Amino acid sequence: MKSHTKSFDVIVVGAGFAGLYLIHKMRELGLSVRAFEKGDDVGGTWYWNRYPGARCDIESVDYSFSFDPELEQEWEWSEKYATQPEILSYAQHVADRFDLRRDISFETAVEGAVWDEETSRWSVTTAKDETVTCRFFIMASGCLSQPKDLDIKGVETFTGDIYRTHSWPHDGVDFSSQRVGIIGTGSSGIQSIPLIAEHADSTVVFQRTANYAIPAGNGPIPEEKQDVKSRYREYREEARWTKGGVPGPVGMDFALAVPEEERQERYEKLWNKGIISHLSLEFADLMINEEANETLSSFAREKIRSKIEDPKLAEILVPTEFPICTKRPCLDTNYFETFNKPNVDVVDIKADPIVTITPTGIATRDKEFEFDSIVFATGFDAMTGALLVIDITGRGDQSLKEKWEHGPLNYLGLTVEGFPNFFTITGPGSPSVLSNMILSIEQHVEWIADCLTYMDKNNLETLEPTKTAELGWVEYGTATSDMTLYPLAKSWYMGANVPGKPRVCLPYCGGVDAYRRVCNDVAAQGYLGFKFGGPDGEQMNDGLVRRQQPDVVALLELMETMQLPPFESMSPAEARATSEAINAGNPPGPEVGELVDGKYQGADGELDYRLYRPKTTGPHPVTLYFHGGGWVLGDHASDDAFCRDLCNNSNSIVISANYRHAPEDRFPAAADDGFAAVQWAAENVESLGGIPGELAVCGWSAGGNIAAVVCQLARDAGGPAIKSQVLITPVVDGTDTSPSMQENAEGFVLTRALMDWFWDHYADEAERSDPKASPLLADNLANLPPALIITAEFDPLRDQGNAYAKALFDAGNDARCINYEGQIHTSFAAVGAIPTANAARAEIAAALKAGFGALAAA
Ligand code: NAP
Repeated sequence: MKSHTKSFDVIVVGAGFAGLYLIHKMRELGLSVRAFEKGDDVGGTWYWNRYPGARCDIESVDYSFSFDPELEQEWEWSEKYATQPEILSYAQHVADRFDLRRDISFETAVEGAVWDEETSRWSVTTAKDETVTCRFFIMASGCLSQPKDLDIKGVETFTGDIYRTHSWPHDGVDFSSQRVGIIGTGSSGIQSIPLIAEHADSTVVFQRTANYAIPAGNGPIPEEKQDVKSRYREYREEARWTKGGVPGPVGMDFALAVPEEERQERYEKLWNKGIISHLSLEFADLMINEEANETLSSFAREKIRSKIEDPKLAEILVPTEFPICTKRPCLDTNYFETFNKPNVDVVDIKADPIVTITPTGIATRDKEFEFDSIVFATGFDAMTGALLVIDITGRGDQSLKEKWEHGPLNYLGLTVEGFPNFFTITGPGSPSVLSNMILSIEQHVEWIADCLTYMDKNNLETLEPTKTAELGWVEYGTATSDMTLYPLAKSWYMGANVPGKPRVCLPYCGGVDAYRRVCNDVAAQGYLGFKFGGPDGEQMNDGLVRRQQPDVVALLELMETMQLPPFESMSPAEARATSEAINAGNPPGPEVGELVDGKYQGADGELDYRLYRPKTTGPHPVTLYFHGGGWVLGDHASDDAFCRDLCNNSNSIVISANYRHAPEDRFPAAADDGFAAVQWAAENVESLGGIPGELAVCGWSAGGNIAAVVCQLARDAGGPAIKSQVLITPVVDGTDTSPSMQENAEGFVLTRALMDWFWDHYADEAERSDPKASPLLADNLANLPPALIITAEFDPLRDQGNAYAKALFDAGNDARCINYEGQIHTSFAAVGAIPTANAARAEIAAALKAGFGALAAA
């Protein structure tokens, strides 16, 4: 018999930190709320994970609620990293202080929830056969709460005791005089192994993948944090605008750009600080460049190796299989040192796999082990497991399981299309596990509270994201993770630890700061990407909250914070100095075979060039490159990283030829120098190490203008022959008034005002319609080299680039244009800074290669 149906405004699943704050916040809004919790008390993760050594890996002063200053002041943390019992008593204190328990049904698991279209309510059933209804159904069930299945054969036959770190006996376990086997070397294993081994007679650890762990350096609250209570408000605000939700230094420089000695010094300090959320932030390229990451990975490997006495054991325990930080790094206390004890051993189960668990222990391919107890520290079906274990059915009888068959489609990690009035706290698609969870929980709960207030004020009953917004967010999340090294690890972040789980990066990797801005922007635009229902019918606010690629967004946000005066407000000399200073902070490009600086004869005197030679054996074809900078800024070395990348990708000698700049040398000086450069390159090709006849031109922005003009001049002069032209966001029309000039006039680095400034310095109004200034305006566009033109969606010059490709094609040339969505004018040359343009760079190199002859291609 089902009990009488109760109804609430809000039902919450889980009474961990997310559930607790939700109850408090919903009450503040005057809503009736009920939370269902499987355990018999509050605490969530910290209620269940009671294994020896369980501690938080975020410092106590950070891993705590900020919503109530009095709570913040009255609670005293005893250590840098709090133990599980201390965190649990904090959760209990919060529950008591805000009298939250009266709205929680303990020992009550939620089993299902169905959206009722007629009543616009959720009907929620529990394991106690109770059905309750609510307007808003909120999952606060945790990201790491659904354990992974025990997927090792023979577990049920074991006659000793089995323990699992995620649901440890409340009274603890006495391992003294026991032979203990432990499977799993993630955070739980690494924390518990030293303490289990301290008491057990013998301990054998079965390791599948060696893991990075840095010493926690636990102890009293560190000195620099002891006064935090006196500045908690500012400290918390600072935390909200960091990547991981923990204040700390963020390196804006690049690991590969600093001398080895400085790098080692910085890593040493980082290591000794023992704060995992700071690890990957030491340099800007650690999580986007494998080579950069390797500098930290190898440092960590050496540190770990130095702790292990037996070199054979070190070979097993030192991690080698993934870049550091692409799996959650662990914090350890005496983990590696534990293996120096004579009664502790490790089995590399990749070399000697577990065949089965037997009644008396574990049998690997090569050996039988006898144990009194086996501990499983094998992890969780992370992020989606706890959501999908409940049978949630939305509109049209669609289950969440079906909807998420290929990965968790959702908007902002908070809401799901087809599931109205349904929220997930720290769901997949939000920073969640890559951040200080309590900070992320607070942000989600507060965002939901604001959203419900908005609905109330506007007389709206239901909300749900649109398909466009949902897909847009999922794509944005994928583009964000694809820029990083996270996909290189077989981690639970990637769903790789659970057989059959879709391989998608589950958390949003852009950081809590960028994510908070997204959520704020959505709200500020009247909840962009949502449709609402109510007595007045449906209200649709469809759209994408982020239209640029994630790295472009990050760059634009960074530039906004820098508040640089616009170039056009400066003198050319000031603009050049500023541009040089900006360039100096750019990531270095890859290594090439050889770099030679030299001089060539320009149209009116000597000019510099820089030659980049591939590592492969020559001779090579030659790509003559013209730099960007609106004819005013830059030089032959200013697109250095791009030229290196181009050299390697195209396997051609790249010669970046300088040209005279405006306003000192106005039109047509740059064009004439460009033509002189192509003549010089063709004449000297052999002495430069090139293959005669294998010459292409390439240029970016104003350099693209010069490259295009040079092709026309060479045609008219009857040579030199040019195999292909690649024009990257080129300037080809000084009279352009097309839509992109208006749409992208501001906000995307190259502004219309800056373009006008460049033109004003370069050429008079009348000169701008000369084809040597505006190649698009040439009467004769026939018989030009094959062309690839790269344009960017958010570039004022987009339409003129497209128009030039069309005009070339119409004139009978082999010409094509690729317009890159979400990119801006400066994306393509920004090697290392805008990884989402890597595909375009590969396309550029492929076009050059295709243009060169068979000899060059070989
Ligand atoms: P985990 O990181 O997923 O580690 C599970 C371990 O079990 C891995 O070593 C895994 O090997 C191994 N494993 C899984 N299935 C196996 C099998 N069938 N055979 C052999 N080995 C197997 O899980 P966790 O240690 O519970 O940690 C999960 C997350 O919880 C952490 O990453 C962290 O975010 C959080 N956590 C935090 C703390 C803290 O705050 N200090 C403590 C505990 C947990 P592979 O690596 O080869 O998959």
